[in-house]
Amino acid sequence: MTTYHLWTIGCQMNVADSERLGAALDQLGCQATDAIDQADIVVLNSCVVRQGAEDKVAGRLHSLRHGKESRPDSILALMGCMVGPDTSELRRRFPHVDCFLRPQEFGELVRLVEAREGVCIDAAMPLVPAAPSVATFVPIIHGCDKFCTFCIIPYRRGRERSRPVAEVVREVAMLAQRGVKEVTLLGQNVDSYGHDLTGGPDLADLLTACNEVQGIQRLRFLTSHPNDMSQRIIDAVASLDKVCEFINLPVQAGDNDVLANMRRGYSREEYLELVHRIRTAMPGVGLTTDVIVGFPGETPEQFEQTIDLVRRVRFDKVHIAMYSPRPGTIAWRKQPDDVSHAEKKRRYRALEDIQQAISQEINQTLLGVTVDVLIEGRQDKRWQGRTRSNKLVHLEGDRYFGETVTAHITGTTAWSLQGKAIKPAKTMLAIAG
Ligand code: SF4
Repeated sequence: MTTYHLWTIGCQMNVADSERLGAALDQLGCQATDAIDQADIVVLNSCVVRQGAEDKVAGRLHSLRHGKESRPDSILALMGCMVGPDTSELRRRFPHVDCFLRPQEFGELVRLVEAREGVCIDAAMPLVPAAPSVATFVPIIHGCDKFCTFCIIPYRRGRERSRPVAEVVREVAMLAQRGVKEVTLLGQNVDSYGHDLTGGPDLADLLTACNEVQGIQRLRFLTSHPNDMSQRIIDAVASLDKVCEFINLPVQAGDNDVLANMRRGYSREEYLELVHRIRTAMPGVGLTTDVIVGFPGETPEQFEQTIDLVRRVRFDKVHIAMYSPRPGTIAWRKQPDDVSHAEKKRRYRALEDIQQAISQEINQTLLGVTVDVLIEGRQDKRWQGRTRSNKLVHLEGDRYFGETVTAHITGTTAWSLQGKAIKPAKTMLAIAG
């Protein structure tokens, strides 16, 4: 039997793309294997958001050269954001790679395998894994139209293309039939979903439609853009019973001049006003953000504005990145990378320390309360799952994978909660009854 190995790095969009490619290869009769050196088909799904990720992919490609040369019948493919419209440089650097596949565009590989296996894929079937995780991802919009000055994504994933509502709902329903309880609707900017579709449905319409799917207990969406998060979307999140009260709302910087240099399209005041509206509609919302420190020209005073914003908002979590210039972006062309690495590190640590204290304080308020946890798996002999507000919870006791339980919180850290499952949650009882 033909075996395949998918290696994935980067964001959830890449994870979802790999799952869909895996589903296609399964349909063609291939079998997944962990043994990369023995696989007949090896696909590296790449990321270029940071230099470190790109270096890792290049290193792995080099290490696979010998194996490919000793097994010329095997297929080696590079997929994802490392593959732009012009692949000539990649072909020169990695002559042992058979195909270069742009994000989501794995048709060339599928055709190669179809010819090799003598079977064809059923084009009418959604590409859904045969045994998906209990909490999984469904891409709803590809690409991005925003062109933030630091970001390579629009150049690699192209302009925004939304998937029709009916197609997404059908996929969510199929996942529910296969045991999925939680679906995260994915896109680089999910809040702009639908503007390119006939009739202009928006994310609120899509969430409303997915909320009706039998068997699904929770819906989430990732990632939002402050400029496109409408009151309609906020109201939908607040009112639809399956849509979790959790929003990742990247701010990137707290200073207006830096935000303008990043071409984010909003001011700190507008961002704070949006947070106020979200919290008014959902007082218990889990709110996280992304921040870049050391963007070109960012002064220590401007960085203090980011610290101030983080202190004011009190996010549940902040994903911090040190600025790294990406060739081809506007910032790479026009804005010199003039903040030293040591200073970027200092800012990273300062922000991390402040956020750690905030997360700890927020999580401490949950000590002794009960929360519903969807159990997603087991790690270090403990069950683990998430609350509706997306807090990671480790649980003692004999609970079952895929079950939603009510848990009593017995301990907290800045990063997670510890608890004791006390009974199946109401949602499970309702389903069971
Ligand atoms: S909105 Fe996000 S994906 Fe789009 S360009 Fe900006 S940072 Fe990149």
